[in-house]
Amino acid sequence: MEIKTYPDPCLRIRAKSVEDFNSDIAKMLNDMADIMYANRGIGLAAPQVGLGLRVLVVDTGDGIVNYINPVIEDASKEKSKLEEGCLSFPDVTVNIVRPKKITVRARDAGGKFFIKTLNGLEAKAIQHELDHLNGKLIIDYLDPIRYFFTQRSLKRAKKNK
Ligand code: ZN
Repeated sequence: MEIKTYPDPCLRIRAKSVEDFNSDIAKMLNDMADIMYANRGIGLAAPQVGLGLRVLVVDTGDGIVNYINPVIEDASKEKSKLEEGCLSFPDVTVNIVRPKKITVRARDAGGKFFIKTLNGLEAKAIQHELDHLNGKLIIDYLDPIRYFFTQRSLKRAKKNK
């Protein structure tokens, strides 16, 4: 398992829901947590390691939480801006405005449903990772001109590696 960086096509796929909560899922969650910690991330979505499943892991300081098939049930009208980075874009940060507070419904490694209301960094991290499950990336929040230049320099940097 390794982190896929832009423009790897796996970052643009729409991930599929998990139906079987078997030992493969448990192993996948463990491997994702390992790779997230090794890269000093606060969240990681399965498409970032090339797996097209609706799975994310997040740790914003209170320990790891696994979210399988996550859905945002409710989002606050109040929004705030955060400069977000992404393990799939090592040298890019983008200011993104998102709801401050969200309620998420998801399943855990055993398939059990849970609901969490999140604030601050944790809420932002979940929204960022959830975007990955739909093939949406931080550069998609840029205005068209910055998008063009950022994408071009990223593609060029990749080619010169
Ligand atoms: Zn990301």
